[in-house]
Amino acid sequence: MIPNSSLLQLHDTIRACKNCGLHATRTQAVPGVGPCPANVMIVGEAPGFNEDRQGEPFVGAAGKLLDTLLGRISLSRSDVYITNVLKCRPPMNRDPMPNEVEACSPYLKQQLELVKPKLVLILGRHALERLMPGQGSISRIHGSLIRRADVAYVPLFHPAAALHNGSLVADLEHDFDQVKRYLDQLLAPPPPPVPVAAPKQESEQLRLL
Ligand code: URA
Repeated sequence: MIPNSSLLQLHDTIRACKNCGLHATRTQAVPGVGPCPANVMIVGEAPGFNEDRQGEPFVGAAGKLLDTLLGRISLSRSDVYITNVLKCRPPMNRDPMPNEVEACSPYLKQQLELVKPKLVLILGRHALERLMPGQGSISRIHGSLIRRADVAYVPLFHPAAALHNGSLVADLEHDFDQVKRYLDQLLAPPPPPVPVAAPKQESEQLRLL
């Protein structure tokens, strides 16, 4: 599915954004990619070196691992909308600063409103802190389903963390298997309505007396 025109307009606004200092060091902004609406939205931290060059999120090594994990549950990049908390690369891939997160947050909020995901995959602690402040650490809640209004969220280890610490790959694989089960439940058609017994005819009721 092609992104709708409002989302494309938002992407253009993000590409022209100068609301924080990161515009001065970026090659280009990285708004996001994927269909709109989409059942699944993925939110990472910020573009890295490759994303800044190509203008697309998760195209480097962490992105390759993300593609493999999506493939594991029969999804591909073209099925999901992918974005980050920050739309511009912090120099040397340093952590996002609070003023940068604040400046970028209205964009993430609008993306959520336009894409209308049923399930949001939260990759890493920075995305978790933005989307669910005070929820606790990723190590404690990764893989769990958190429902807020009509959207469900699953916090997950960031694939880049798993590239540094190989033991997290098994956790990610296990959590993606869980994601598949959650999705199957969330997308299941509602059960058919239970038929209501028709009231007995008066003559039939009399015959019973
Ligand atoms: N890490 C992220 O959080 N986002 C990207 O787009 C790439 C790497």
